[in-house]
Amino acid sequence: MSDNCIFCKIAAGEIPCKKVYEDAEVIAFHDIHPAAPVHFMIIPKEHVVSLFDAHARHEALLGRILLLAPILAKEQGLDDGFRTIINTGAGGGQEVFHLHVHILGGNKPRPM
Ligand code: AMP
Ligand code: ZN
Repeated sequence: MSDNCIFCKIAAGEIPCKKVYEDAEVIAFHDIHPAAPVHFMIIPKEHVVSLFDAHARHEALLGRILLLAPILAKEQGLDDGFRTIINTGAGGGQEVFHLHVHILGGNKPRPM
């Protein structure tokens, strides 16, 4: 738990969220400012700042998050597909410095 980290506070239940899923290692919740009809994120409960700060010991955790993505996306009605985004560092547009995987869908995404 990192002081003043909003996602650590959500993971600890200190700040409310619209929860999608939770287990001992991860929590998923809807984005407060959705950028698509369905927009939630999956985060590790451990405070990992970004992919820059992920190490070999996080390999299984990151794998779990990615494998959870299609399961939770389907539960949220995204049977047709979804977009995943991981912003890394200020140069990658990251604003909350606790690693998170965005899951977006329900509209036609812009081509990348
Ligand atoms: P990023 O730019 O990848 O760091 O994205 C951070 C995301 O966190 C943004 O899409 C915000 O809307 C979202 N966000 C910030 N605070 C909260 C919160 N308390 N609950 C849910 N989502 C949040
Ligand atoms: Zn944190």
